Amino acid sequence: MVNIEKEEEEYLRFVTDRMLGKLSTWLRILGHDTVYAADLKTIDLAEDEDEDKAIVSFAEQKARILLTRDKNLALSARKKGIQCVQIKTDEVMEQLNELLCHHININLEPVPVRCSECNGKIRKVEEGEEDILKEKSYVPTSMIGKWHFWVCEHCGRIYWEGSHWRNMREKLDQLKEVL
Ligand SMILES: [Zn+2]
Repeated sequence: MVNIEKEEEEYLRFVTDRMLGKLSTWLRILGHDTVYAADLKTIDLAEDEDEDKAIVSFAEQKARILLTRDKNLALSARKKGIQCVQIKTDEVMEQLNELLCHHININLEPVPVRCSECNGKIRKVEEGEEDILKEKSYVPTSMIGKWHFWVCEHCGRIYWEGSHWRNMREKLDQLKEVL
């Protein structure tokens, strides 16, 4: 894994609509702070507020780039001067490519910075903390002490560099080839 020391400011901040769950996951894997509309309710949505309006005002207040499949949502965001990309394709690698075409300069290396599930910050599991790994049934316990592990500070999910990360890097390499 690379770029661990990268400053957080180098990563872009996004808010995404409900059609872009998979893209949100990928942006987090790439280190970008990405709030997904479906998660917004628990964060910032006033009870009677329309979700589209809430997404726009969240993007405005938090200075985030809005990503949406919805033409009308894109229009109302742009009217307010919010940086916004209307995504046109369905496949997630093509969607990343669309961002690059719009000069949204996303990082294209997986980095252990954000939880892909909840957007929380992840940190390395230190020596002596192995107990938090053993609590999770999905962690390959035979690799404790051999691999590096990371833990999400928000939801507790555990990450490690296994085939999961390798597959992602291969996909991204394919994307970089066509750029
Ligand atoms: Zn998490």
